Amino acid sequence: MKLIIHGGFFSESSQSHETKKAKQDALERIVKQSYEYLKNHTALETIVYAVEQMENDELFNAGIGSQIQSDGKIRMSASMMDSVTERFSGVINIEDVKNPIRVAEKLFTYDDRVLGGEGAISFARKNGFEKFSTEIPQRRKEYEEKVAAQGTGTVGCVALDAKGNIAAATSTGGKGFEMPGRISDSATTAGNYANAFCGVSCTGVGEDIVSASVATKIVTRVTDGMSIKAAFDRTFAELKPYDGFAGAIAIDKEGNVYHQDSFPKMVFASFDGTNFETFD
Ligand code: ASP
Repeated sequence: MKLIIHGGFFSESSQSHETKKAKQDALERIVKQSYEYLKNHTALETIVYAVEQMENDELFNAGIGSQIQSDGKIRMSASMMDSVTERFSGVINIEDVKNPIRVAEKLFTYDDRVLGGEGAISFARKNGFEKFSTEIPQRRKEYEEKVAAQGTGTVGCVALDAKGNIAAATSTGGKGFEMPGRISDSATTAGNYANAFCGVSCTGVGEDIVSASVATKIVTRVTDGMSIKAAFDRTFAELKPYDGFAGAIAIDKEGNVYHQDSFPKMVFASFDGTNFETFD
């Protein structure tokens, strides 16, 4: 069993030593708790569990603590996929729910599995997701001062369970200050993808991730026989011509855990029951 999570990017220049330590501590707690959970649950159940915990932590830009868009509203996106069903489900630009990943999970068994905007909100309400504001005072302050919440991160998780199944989930509050209607990569297959060979969750600038189709390309390359390292190297090299800003975490079917970013530094933690690794 293997587990890796990310919490977006960390900016040394705009974030304090205390914030870094708080993020490291939060990731360590969440990856270890989620690993305990993985012992008795599937990869699919575990990625939702791990992402929900990060959505509930205001240190991260997903669920509570999400960034505010240019019109003053918060719109969040989340998605999930697993190797057993090869189903992808997600919500795009959903408002006023505590845990977007739980709405994506609810959609997983439906025929229509990716909902956006009003449709996503009304589906959530009909399915018992109560109105919940994920705004925190710090994000409103940043919005009012027109300062982007630098380094505040999207979250994601990839898990390989005891049966060898892989799943990936990603959840975001977006870039901050974006135009209403802008689509994040996090609920697309460029930002989150999994099959029986590999699972990937991305963070970074959604437009760059979609242009390079990062998660899909890495998974496809591993599926076609490339090593996970070679698949990452090739895909990240393709981001270079336009200075693409992305980070990704992954696990392949052999249990190789991998991560890479095009700018320092992506906030991540991995755990396999013995070995713990995080960003420095
Ligand atoms: N990828 C997210 C987006 O563009 C933002 C992030 O990962 O920080 O919406």
